[in-house]
Amino acid sequence: MTPPSQPRERLRVAIQKSGRLGEPARELLASCGLTWRESRDRLFLYGESLPVDVLLVRDDDIPGLIADGVCDLGVVGRNVLVEHGLDREATGRPGRLTEWRRLGWGACRLALAIPEDQQWRGPDQLTGLRIATSYPRTLARWLGEQGVDAEPVLLNGSVEIAPRLGQADVVADLVSTGSTLRANQLTPVVTILESEAVIAGPDHALDDGRQEIADLLLRRLDGAVRLKESRLLMLRAGRADLDAVMPLLPAGHEPTVLPVERGSLDGGRDEVSVQVLVHGPVSWSRLEDLKRAGAHNLMVLPVEGMLA
Ligand code: ATP
Ligand code: ZN
Repeated sequence: MTPPSQPRERLRVAIQKSGRLGEPARELLASCGLTWRESRDRLFLYGESLPVDVLLVRDDDIPGLIADGVCDLGVVGRNVLVEHGLDREATGRPGRLTEWRRLGWGACRLALAIPEDQQWRGPDQLTGLRIATSYPRTLARWLGEQGVDAEPVLLNGSVEIAPRLGQADVVADLVSTGSTLRANQLTPVVTILESEAVIAGPDHALDDGRQEIADLLLRRLDGAVRLKESRLLMLRAGRADLDAVMPLLPAGHEPTVLPVERGSLDGGRDEVSVQVLVHGPVSWSRLEDLKRAGAHNLMVLPVEGMLA
């Protein structure tokens, strides 16, 4: 591996080796057209179609690898990124990271949860309590904002069982559905941080031509994200009905309106074909409204590829 101080021509992206974000991160890179060969020790994916290599690591290591210049970008939960940033700040180490992209999946929140037989009256109630968490810096920042003096207890796993074991009074833990907390007789009462998977990177441009590779990758990624949500809505309508039809089209790109050869299906009526690229689903009721306004032959098609 090239040491951080040496020029490096290939982009290096860190993703979670296994766990919740590993597979979606691989899918994300694949959707950008990256193909790879996996190293025998399952530590690297060597990019074949692009000068991009992927490092497979524990999610907690990702911010550090970027901050130290070992990797350029990483796919990681905001919760891990924020905690790392606060820790670096508190210990006076350089290397600030930012979110280059929000990915919209891997959603969860860092929530304060209390035993379900207790009543929540507000943050003051936490004064003097022990709060088990894997995110002590993020918790301490929130406690500071609330002006509450409590004691974070760092646990690196199974935070939710700490109150039952008597290690802590309440917890600040990651929640998505809440079922783990419920199973441990805890109720989430406050959200400390909203999280999702993000692409993390340094707060400055990359060197040695790697910024260009990153730009290319992110452009493809933006296209792939838009693509996933895109549909092409097609319909036919009499030109006379266009005034009624057009305002009912879902918001999207500017519609294309094309004249249709007279005399085929329409009995010589002056017809147009309308196409519009839509972001997000098109509902049945929308299609029915369009039909009532005079549209027919309505079709909603998936989009396979797009290059603006
Ligand atoms: P690693 O071995 O890489 O350290 P891990 O056990 O820390 O794995 P996972 O449980 O796979 O990590 O979670 C990875 C990320 O998934 C979290 O940091 C968070 O951003 C996100 N996530 C989404 N939903 C949840 C959830 N319900 N609980 C925990 N993490 C979640
Ligand atoms: Zn982890």
